[in-house]
Amino acid sequence: MKTIDLRSDTVTQPTAGMLEAMLSADVGDDVYREDETVNSLEDKVASMTAKEAAVFLPTGTQSNLVALLSHCQRGEEYIVGQQAHTFKYEGGGAAVLGSIQPQPIEFEEDATLDLVRVSKAIKPDDSHFAKTRLLCLENTHFGKVLPMSYLVNVREFCAEKNLKLHLDGARIFNAAISLNVTVDKITKNFDSVSICLSKGLGAPVGSVLSGSKDFIEEARRWRKVVGGGMRQGGYMAACGIYALDNQVDRLQLDHANAERLAQGLTSIKQVTVQKNRAFSNMVFLKISGPELVKLTQYLAKRSIKVGGYGEMRLVTHLDVESIDIDRVVAAFRDYYR
Ligand SMILES: *Cc1c(COP(=O)(O)O)cnc(C)c1O
Repeated sequence: MKTIDLRSDTVTQPTAGMLEAMLSADVGDDVYREDETVNSLEDKVASMTAKEAAVFLPTGTQSNLVALLSHCQRGEEYIVGQQAHTFKYEGGGAAVLGSIQPQPIEFEEDATLDLVRVSKAIKPDDSHFAKTRLLCLENTHFGKVLPMSYLVNVREFCAEKNLKLHLDGARIFNAAISLNVTVDKITKNFDSVSICLSKGLGAPVGSVLSGSKDFIEEARRWRKVVGGGMRQGGYMAACGIYALDNQVDRLQLDHANAERLAQGLTSIKQVTVQKNRAFSNMVFLKISGPELVKLTQYLAKRSIKVGGYGEMRLVTHLDVESIDIDRVVAAFRDYYR
């Protein structure tokens, strides 16, 4: 029986076309800037995100870290959401390695950061305080897509407050597909953008950070410092290029499957789906404690893997088809029968 892995969209296997692209990649030493495939990927992402330049990194965590190190100096701070990846899920990297202070604030229900709250968190110019330099947003955040009107407001707000604006866009293509816009419409509002190739796009490894030419030069230095200067990285970059050319539009299927899953589970009275719906490619269930453990184990016996932190998170991706969704719903139904 096929294992249906809904823990994350990071679990995908490279497709046949992607492996072929990898085999035929033209590579060189990227630290000398001689890897044509890495160079093409960087140019491609810079252009897609409406930025001057981009740099390829092994992971999204490193990409965000390098962005923070490039925007902020020691003793400066970034404002960020309490549950944001760049605050909570990256081992405190900016503080550990950059002496950069995070200033977390609560997210609103729609994954935005309220600009009045952000405004109150900005420190006055006074030697008691760290210098507030940067605002960090996440799109999608727990599957939620930031509204376009909010992005415009944030852009204006940051200009007025003299803050830089970084986007952790690990799943930015899911946001673009949900909004039915090209990704540049979202990213043009930010000074820097980090995207993941290894989430829903289905590449085995890799993230790309984009921004102004000067910013990316600085980011390249920091990438080397933190050990991310890769050599024949073109084999990995080829997968990224393939993903961007062939596996963006299909994210619609993931969203449709997530919706199918949310609808199916909502029809089971013991199951509470958050807001009765999917958020892009994710469905969250209100279930915790021993019940969560029991259900997770039951599903595992039926070759269905699920995850989440203190609730159940179900994520659709490249390797999940709509018939798999039906099998998952049937398994839940049997459990509660
Ligand atoms: C996955 C993810 C990242 C980066 O994670 P890596 O596993 O280091 O590639 C960053 N931000 C968000 C929101 C993510 O989901």
